Amino acid sequence: MMTKILILESATNDLNFICFELDRSGFNYTTINIKLIDEFENAVHNYNPDIILSGYSLMNDNGQEVLKICDRCYPLIPLILIADHIEIENCVALIKNGVSDIILKQNIASLGQKISTTLKTTRADTLPNQCEENLNDKSIYRSLIENSEDAILLTEKDGKILEANNSACQIFKMTEEEFYIFGRFSLVDHNDPSLLALIEERNLTGVAKDELTFNRKDGSSFTGEITSVVFKDIWGHEMTSIKIKDLTQYKKAEKQLAKTAAELQETVNSLNKIMNASMDLIFSVDADKKIVQINSACNSTTGYETQELVGKSYIDFIHNEDKEIIFNADQNVRNGNPIKTFEARVIHKNGTTIYILLSAQWDEDDKLIYCTAKDITEKTKLEKAYKVERERFLDLYNLAPACMGLLKGPNHIHELTNSLYLKFINKKDVIGKSILEVMPEMEDQGIIGLLDSVYNTGVPFIANEMLIQLDSNNNGLLVQTYMNFIYQAHRKSDGKIDGIFVFAIDVTEQVLSRIKIEESEKMYRQLISELPVAAYSCDADGKISFFNKAAAILWDTEPKIGEDSFCGFSKMLDEDGQTIPLHLSPMAISLNEGRIVSGRSGTVERASGERRYVLPHVVPYIDSSGKVTGAVNVVTDITEIKVAQIALELRNSELAFQNQEKEKRAAELSIANKELAYQNKEKENRANELVIANQELAFQNDEKEKRAKELILINIELHKSNKELDRFVYSISHDLRSPLTSVQGLVSIIEEESEEPSTLKHVEMIKNSINRLDEFVKKILIYSRNDRTDLELEIIPVKKTILNIIASLQNMKQAKDIHFEIEVQELSPFCTDKLRFNTIVENLISNAIKYHKPRSSDRFIKVKAVAHKEMMQLEIVDNGIGIPLMYKEKIFDMFFRISSKSEGSGIGLYIVKDTIEKLEGSIKVISQKQAGTTFEINLKNYKKC
Ligand code: ADP
Repeated sequence: MMTKILILESATNDLNFICFELDRSGFNYTTINIKLIDEFENAVHNYNPDIILSGYSLMNDNGQEVLKICDRCYPLIPLILIADHIEIENCVALIKNGVSDIILKQNIASLGQKISTTLKTTRADTLPNQCEENLNDKSIYRSLIENSEDAILLTEKDGKILEANNSACQIFKMTEEEFYIFGRFSLVDHNDPSLLALIEERNLTGVAKDELTFNRKDGSSFTGEITSVVFKDIWGHEMTSIKIKDLTQYKKAEKQLAKTAAELQETVNSLNKIMNASMDLIFSVDADKKIVQINSACNSTTGYETQELVGKSYIDFIHNEDKEIIFNADQNVRNGNPIKTFEARVIHKNGTTIYILLSAQWDEDDKLIYCTAKDITEKTKLEKAYKVERERFLDLYNLAPACMGLLKGPNHIHELTNSLYLKFINKKDVIGKSILEVMPEMEDQGIIGLLDSVYNTGVPFIANEMLIQLDSNNNGLLVQTYMNFIYQAHRKSDGKIDGIFVFAIDVTEQVLSRIKIEESEKMYRQLISELPVAAYSCDADGKISFFNKAAAILWDTEPKIGEDSFCGFSKMLDEDGQTIPLHLSPMAISLNEGRIVSGRSGTVERASGERRYVLPHVVPYIDSSGKVTGAVNVVTDITEIKVAQIALELRNSELAFQNQEKEKRAAELSIANKELAYQNKEKENRANELVIANQELAFQNDEKEKRAKELILINIELHKSNKELDRFVYSISHDLRSPLTSVQGLVSIIEEESEEPSTLKHVEMIKNSINRLDEFVKKILIYSRNDRTDLELEIIPVKKTILNIIASLQNMKQAKDIHFEIEVQELSPFCTDKLRFNTIVENLISNAIKYHKPRSSDRFIKVKAVAHKEMMQLEIVDNGIGIPLMYKEKIFDMFFRISSKSEGSGIGLYIVKDTIEKLEGSIKVISQKQAGTTFEINLKNYKKC
């Protein structure tokens, strides 16, 4: 039976997808496709479909409207939704609102089965409602039940089965009676978790539908779809109709379907793998030129990922210059004219241009263009490069500095010639003409024979500087030309010879030049041979290849050409006289290092043993590749020059030494001069200073002279007054003594004549005073004499003199109990003024007595004297009262006394010091209070006396 299907789907892909599945399931159907909801009602009305298939995406937008239209006008036409994905809530809502079934796209393989089932179910379900007025027509009803493939049971509320159709008996393997006996509840597997829900649903709504597990009579079970409806019969009894569809086969089919789908998926995957493994682009393009599908080669070819290209217009990726032709080609393909090879440029993602070779075919069913494209960028680039190379070759061929030509066939017909070839033979329009036609003069020169030989044997002919006569001026006169040329067989791709490639270079000029060079070389060789200077050459290995007569004379031998190396001397010596090895000779160095070795003379030894000085000059020969091919050495005998040079050097060094010495001397003189100049300067300065000092001194001298004159005047004056004073003192003292002496005589008379104690006491007092006065006057006289009189020198007996003085002083009343110690050493006779010596000693001893400690027990006075040749040391020591330190110097002053109670006049030590000075001596006092006093005197020994 043909099923009429109305498909409500706007997306072409999905539509194709659905149709593909309908075809695959072997469904017998016709279809129309509605893309817009507005067309829906008319289409349903006109077409009157058995079933409606609708894409869920469309339903989602206007689903309610579709359902409303269906509900309003076509409630009996089942509607199946096809969705990518759907929420379960939406599912329930849609089913409640009248959607017969929902198929997910991933389960599209079940589409055929679902449509069949839906059609059957709907017919079975809707039949009682649809034919409500016919319900009473039991025969029809029964017929429907009996003919149903599903088990249909009519049961009472308590579960008793009143009727069961044939299908029920077959499915449950029970008779109708057995149904009656076992009842409704025995049919169901009560452990099935869906059972309770089903019962609840039916109790609530009166209708319930679900899958349950059913038990057959034989104990086996099966899965079935139950539709349970509660209704009231015409008598008002509540009845339950149950329809059970045995899903055993369906489940099997479902499993099989899943397996098939998986297999199909695997096939699709493999196909995808193959597609993606392809290095070529494989893609499809829809009516809008948008890429529908493209394999992963797009990434390696264009740099884009698949998802970056799908949905995009492929024209956008075409190179701007190719867009128009691609656009036209696209149109052409859509008109049914497939293209097999079409080259176009595509812009790579990185901006570079890639070349593709495109083939495309329109598919009317899919409304798609299927394309494959091969990336030929590399090939195109190679072709371009080849083209460039070929052009370069042609350029090279034309611009090559050689004659090039191709002669074809056995008659050597010109097929190709470059410009130099034509220029060389001085001909035009040679292509197509044989070599004989172009250059008939070649025949007699055997050239044609050579060409024939190469053509026939394939063995190339190579000519080197071959002389050819050429009518190059086209006047019949042959011009001699030297040629280097190659005749080489030209072969076809099968290897057979079809012509000769000619490559020729005109070397006439080189040959002529070389001949000239050879001639001049000969000339030079002769010249060198006759030269009066030794010259020879060696090859690259140092073997002597040539030497002239002068060299043989210098060496005193003739070396063997090609055998002896580097030079003909028997020895070469360095500056120290050591032999230089041959490999370090100038010739060897020049050959090794490829440079001129010159400028260093050396000593050599000839075959005869004689030594000479020579100056080598070695020049290497270097060929165009930079290789040293030999060297020539011009050796100059400089022995005489050297000898003269050595003599000159000796002379020079002598002169240099002398110069050096002179220079040194000059330098020293210069230093001395400087020193002298400095000293002169200093002296000048000093002289100036001296002049100033002299002036100063002269001035001072003048002053001093003036002063001296003044002093002399003063001295004379002083001297005069001193003399007068002395005289006055002397005359006073002298004059005083006479009356004193008279008074003393008178007092002595009174003393002798008077017995009156008081008179005697007074006389004693007068006597003491007169004695003290006399002593004083005596001392004044001594002082005066000391100053007035000159020294009266004589040798004096020192010890005796001292003993006499002590003896005269022992009468002094203070001298009682004083122990005198005298220690005199007269090492040399002592010469002095006796009176003055007595004055000194007497004064000092009398003081020691006077200023002794009166009540002390061991009182002593020591007199020590040592007379030396030059002087005498005199020491007078007492252990008397001593002198306080503060008066040590004062005691020598005139009239100084430490104590006013002292009996003395204070002039004694003044006279002592004055007298010692007169005798050119010195005095020093050492004293400690209450310990004693020491006077140390040094007196000059006037040896002359
Ligand atoms: P004078 O005639 O009074 O002795 P000098 O000139 O001889 O006078 O002595 C000066 C003073 O020095 C004395 O008055 C005495 O006080 C002191 N003097 C001199 N000699 C001694 C001595 N040996 N010991 C202690 N005092 C002395």
